[in-house]
Amino acid sequence: MRAPRIRLLAVPLLAVGLVAAAGCSKKTTTSASPTPGPTFAAGTTMARLQAAGKMTVGTKFDQPLFGLKNPLTGAIEGFDVEIAKLVAQGIYGGTADEAAKHINFVETPSNVREISIQQGKVDMVVATYTINNTRKQVVDFGGPYYVAGQDIMVKKGDDSIKSVTDLNGKKVCTVQGSTSLTNVKAKAPQADLSITFDLYSKCADALRDGRVQAETTDNVILLGLVKDNKDVFKVVGNPFTTEPYGIGIKKGDDAFRSFINDRLEASYQDGSWAAAFNKTVGTAGVTAPAPPAVDRYTSVPGAPTSTVTSTVPSTVTPTAK
Ligand code: GLU
Repeated sequence: MRAPRIRLLAVPLLAVGLVAAAGCSKKTTTSASPTPGPTFAAGTTMARLQAAGKMTVGTKFDQPLFGLKNPLTGAIEGFDVEIAKLVAQGIYGGTADEAAKHINFVETPSNVREISIQQGKVDMVVATYTINNTRKQVVDFGGPYYVAGQDIMVKKGDDSIKSVTDLNGKKVCTVQGSTSLTNVKAKAPQADLSITFDLYSKCADALRDGRVQAETTDNVILLGLVKDNKDVFKVVGNPFTTEPYGIGIKKGDDAFRSFINDRLEASYQDGSWAAAFNKTVGTAGVTAPAPPAVDRYTSVPGAPTSTVTSTVPSTVTPTAK
């Protein structure tokens, strides 16, 4: 037979091929992670970001638990960062931590989130970013992936502020370009808001040194600020709004929005959303809630878009008014 001579040459190559194939199929059947190098339709944002090998994500750098630049290591850490990694994992493959190597995080304070997206300075914003109809006029949102509620932080010994109406007549700090500012103006119209900043950490400094009597924003942001300052601050614990957090992207990029929503839903299913929550917000003693249903709303050009509040399940915390 002539076959053995040919086989002698072919076997080593064939063997390499079989080993590689076995390795690949093993990976895909034993892991919920996407396989390396998923394929995207040409012209999509996913294809562009994959080809570039890099994506730019706007997040916060001063909000412990959600987006914090670790002062010791320089690493950007928090739940928002983990959510960004889960999206990147769907584009670049590998694990979420491997995908993180493709992300360039840039600090994106509240008042520059829309403009950063519109001008293409960032590919997406994951930054305690409330989905609402005003913002949907200029950007679109994947998610929500978490639902917070606005609360109040005071000095530890201060028992004079127990609800939002107690802020009337008090000096209150919050951040420009946030829903926290519009909400407090509406619910405590007599609050003195003469001191506002671009960052919540600056409000915490103002509260610490007595320039203001309270700071108001989302409860989980305040929780992060209190975490290492329990002798100085406390959260009132009486949330008065509902803040569904979304992933901001360019308005009209429906394919990218669907992809992000698919990734969020996959992370809800395979446990990676809960794991991300537990390793970040969970470290402050918060139990992971049921993740909120994503809202695949229809965007009608030039018309007001759908509301998201109806899709927020009542099981998520906190929704007290
Ligand atoms: N979630 C609110 C917002 O998007 C307040 C927190 C923030 O400013 O990042 O405006």
